[in-house]
Amino acid sequence: MRVRFWGVRGGIAATRQDAQGIGGNTPCVELRDRDGHLLILDAGIGLYWLGRSLLAGPLGRGKGEATILLTHSHWDHIQGFPFFVPAFIPGNRIDIWGGGVATLRDVLEGQMSGTYSPIDGMANMGASIEVGDLSQCPVLERGRFRITHAHYRNGPHDMVGYRIEEDGKSLCYISEADHRAGLDPTIVELARGVDVLVHEAFYTDEELAAGGNSLAGPSGPPSGGHCSFGQATEVAIAAGAQRLHYFYHHPDHSDADIHAAVAREREKIAARGLPLRVEPAREGLEFQV
Ligand SMILES: [Zn+2]
Repeated sequence: MRVRFWGVRGGIAATRQDAQGIGGNTPCVELRDRDGHLLILDAGIGLYWLGRSLLAGPLGRGKGEATILLTHSHWDHIQGFPFFVPAFIPGNRIDIWGGGVATLRDVLEGQMSGTYSPIDGMANMGASIEVGDLSQCPVLERGRFRITHAHYRNGPHDMVGYRIEEDGKSLCYISEADHRAGLDPTIVELARGVDVLVHEAFYTDEELAAGGNSLAGPSGPPSGGHCSFGQATEVAIAAGAQRLHYFYHHPDHSDADIHAAVAREREKIAARGLPLRVEPAREGLEFQV
């Protein structure tokens, strides 16, 4: 499979100049199987730019298909969908899957209501859009992809993690996670032996030790639901992953902050003599698994 990151930032977009090497768009990852079949992980702002790139292909002519897998419906994971240009082209077929809420269709319709958007409902988008229920589909097959998932609690809300396999290669996608009570065993199991783990690392270890660096500030609600670079590394080691991409970067973190945190993780991994390779996820990074 081919992988490309279109959005790697968590919470809100980061437009600051010193963060553009990593990139400022909220979560969106493109996967392609050997035949070019398209799978999209999360629908943050990165989805707008992915959508623009798809217009040169079948999705630009009303003859395309895309599957979108949502980890949950927090704003930063769905805010790109009303701006996904292929969804406005009649003839395209888009299916959206997710969990965490019983009424994903209602959530997406609400996002498109006249209060928030001139689109005023998904029926006005043009493409054929289906919203699927993962509880009815423990294994989803799209093109050559075999997709499994796991539900886990993340602080106060439910999340879905995904594992995507093709031709014996595998990628696990964990867009947000909280390991304060110990590594979440559901996540470790889902990621068991994967070639690539994409896992959030919202905080530095120092920030986490100090209680987290909440986007709502020190007076805001508790900063649960996120983890650190060090915890993401421990998940990858426990799962036996080959490679880890730190993801869902904090908007306060500059390119230099993120590269410094990753360098510290590399040192710790090397000191333990482990073969795990680690990289920050960054916009535009494309690779074969
Ligand atoms: Zn969230």
